[in-house]
Amino acid sequence: MIQTYSIAVLGGDGIGPEVVAEGLKVLRAVEARVPGVNYRFVAHSVGAAEFLHSGDPLSAATLEKIKEADAILLGAMGLPEVRWPSGVEMTPQIDLREKLDLYNGVRPIKLLHETHTPLKGYGGAAGKPIDFVIVRENCEGLFSERLTPRPAGRDFETDTMKITRRGAERICREAFKLAQSRRKLCTLVDKANVLPSMAFLRKIFDEVARDFPDVRTERVYVDAMALFLVQRPETFDVMVTENMFGDILSDLAAGIIGGMGMAPSADIGDDYAVFQPSHGTAPTIAGKGIANPIATILSVAMMLAWLGHPESIRGARLIERAVERVLADPAHRTADIGGKLSTAQMGNLVCQALT
Ligand code: ATP
Repeated sequence: MIQTYSIAVLGGDGIGPEVVAEGLKVLRAVEARVPGVNYRFVAHSVGAAEFLHSGDPLSAATLEKIKEADAILLGAMGLPEVRWPSGVEMTPQIDLREKLDLYNGVRPIKLLHETHTPLKGYGGAAGKPIDFVIVRENCEGLFSERLTPRPAGRDFETDTMKITRRGAERICREAFKLAQSRRKLCTLVDKANVLPSMAFLRKIFDEVARDFPDVRTERVYVDAMALFLVQRPETFDVMVTENMFGDILSDLAAGIIGGMGMAPSADIGDDYAVFQPSHGTAPTIAGKGIANPIATILSVAMMLAWLGHPESIRGARLIERAVERVLADPAHRTADIGGKLSTAQMGNLVCQALT
């Protein structure tokens, strides 16, 4: 019997729809090669453009429809010129994480070709590999009170670093489980030397660690991690951290494997999951057809693996191998990684390499 999965497609703003189009193209090509699983796409308008159109970037009715899907594929959302009265941008992608309780932000960082990294001695046959995963807590931390209404006219503002036992336990547990399936090293990134909230996070990390005796542990301050990600990224396997720290380190980590266009991600909860490139809407290159779709295509692979059907998992591996095969040829590059290919040309090459 053929299994059909419905995929909610949220292209969003800026380059979001351009890279999602390539992700869907690759998914259709996978469907043609891997029998037994079909994908039904249901598009929804969410984001800054939707706000300009209807006054709501993510309506309650749209959210209910999105929740009917088996998985959610998202491009990017928000535009610098479209802001709330408080001055912050529309961020329905963050609203979705909170509303669907997608606490587990999984950001794989893998160097796919030596020419993509600004670091010396990494990648290629003789170089050191870069292959680790940032597990970012998505639903609390420093982002947690961003939507709390504030009295107008005050001459101060505060944002609270909120760490709950439940939130810390579940994200640490996910990180340890992931480490168990990889090289069995789990690194906590915190600021436990200064902030009581972080000392609390460390205490819970240590408690959870006792349930995973086969996983080695490390504890690294976030400022030191910024240094180590440049000096010795090959030494990490899974790192788990607070929401804002994970946000910042994800961009740094993407920088050492070729930039934002190379970094996929998944935001996973107990009932729903959203798959999206780690990058934002990149307004300066939007509409030019030059954005790198690889992060989105690899996010599609993460989605297929997460769906968990043996044939969708096979599809995920096909995509990963195709991307590696395409990027093995240094002529196959979009502008961000030093080439001339368009977004669509890169998507076409990945489709052709799906064998
Ligand atoms: P956000 O705040 O929404 O996460 P950001 O401030 O991190 O967004 P991005 O939109 O991710 O910013 O862009 C960061 C830089 O990376 C910009 O120079 C942008 O042009 C570039 N960039 C991002 N995504 C891509 C892509 N897919 N292809 C090429 N360049 C990209």
